[in-house]
Amino acid sequence: MHLQGFATKVVHWQKMLGRNHLPWQGTQDPYRVWLSEIMLQQTQVVTVIGYFDRFLKRFPDVRSLAGAPLDDVLGLWSGLGYYSRARNLHRCAQQVVADHAGVFPRDATTLATLPGIGRSTAAAVASLCFGERVAILDANVKRVVTRVLGFDADLAMAANERALWDAATALLPVGRGAAEDMPRYTQGMMDLGATVCLPKKPLCMVCPVQKMCQASAAGDPQRYPVRTRKLKRSSHSLWLLWAHAPNGAVLLEQRPTPGVWAGLYCLPLFDSEEALRSALPAALQKQLQFEPAFVHVLTHKDLHLHVAQLTLSAASIQAGSARWVRAADWPAMGLPAPIRKLLTRGV
Ligand code: SF4
Repeated sequence: MHLQGFATKVVHWQKMLGRNHLPWQGTQDPYRVWLSEIMLQQTQVVTVIGYFDRFLKRFPDVRSLAGAPLDDVLGLWSGLGYYSRARNLHRCAQQVVADHAGVFPRDATTLATLPGIGRSTAAAVASLCFGERVAILDANVKRVVTRVLGFDADLAMAANERALWDAATALLPVGRGAAEDMPRYTQGMMDLGATVCLPKKPLCMVCPVQKMCQASAAGDPQRYPVRTRKLKRSSHSLWLLWAHAPNGAVLLEQRPTPGVWAGLYCLPLFDSEEALRSALPAALQKQLQFEPAFVHVLTHKDLHLHVAQLTLSAASIQAGSARWVRAADWPAMGLPAPIRKLLTRGV
């Protein structure tokens, strides 16, 4: 469905009232735009800003990122969560260097073949940097498009999702100035979703497309987008051995890939209390001090974490592939958020 004047309104509004001073704006460098897009998936702008600056300082271009050890990338990513993004970021940089001579492809179709770059991220990079006429459809933009069009088909069904992509494509700028308008249009759609067309209380009164918005006219924006299938959540218990020495050293092991917290450094992790106990000599088992379990929420899973402290007089025991890490060293390592919290809290 083509809506007369929709794209023009979005472009004009972005120029006057959109976000124009974020650190990754004002550039058409695909490396910076790609980096910001990956960081912004599932993470708020305010959090991303600091990480973005630190990343760029350390890895100013795709070659420096590709050449870095994965541990360094995970260390810098630490605290942003969803670590598969960091692993894919690293793989993607390596692929750009190996297969594209260190230059990002300019079209969304080729960009989408790279690790960690889905259709919407590919379209964001291609439209923001190269003016390609392709639609983005992240969660924020889905909300805007479904509301404006009154698109109430269930997005749990792939055919409906495809129809929404077609509808979003039909809304893009048309005519001679389309390529020139694309960066601002894409940014405008992101800004509308993030600052005006909010999930619970959309600010329809100040929305540039209110006059053509079906959901606003019907008074039911919160109904959109429609998705019936709920994520199935599961829960899982894990036991953590928190062994520490008086000099502050702590026993850490790198998590295997694939699996929970793959590639990150973690306290030795066990599936049961028995497994944890049997990793230790009998004398030490008696010294274990269990803390009350706490829940850490992942996307599809609740992790019930049981921590057993073990205070040692020196960095002595070994547990599998674990090694002792000095107090000065672990803060720079890639650690899962709850483990970092524990270690920061201290014993
Ligand atoms: Fe969203 Fe309201 Fe704007 Fe429609 S009018 S796009 S519901 S903010």
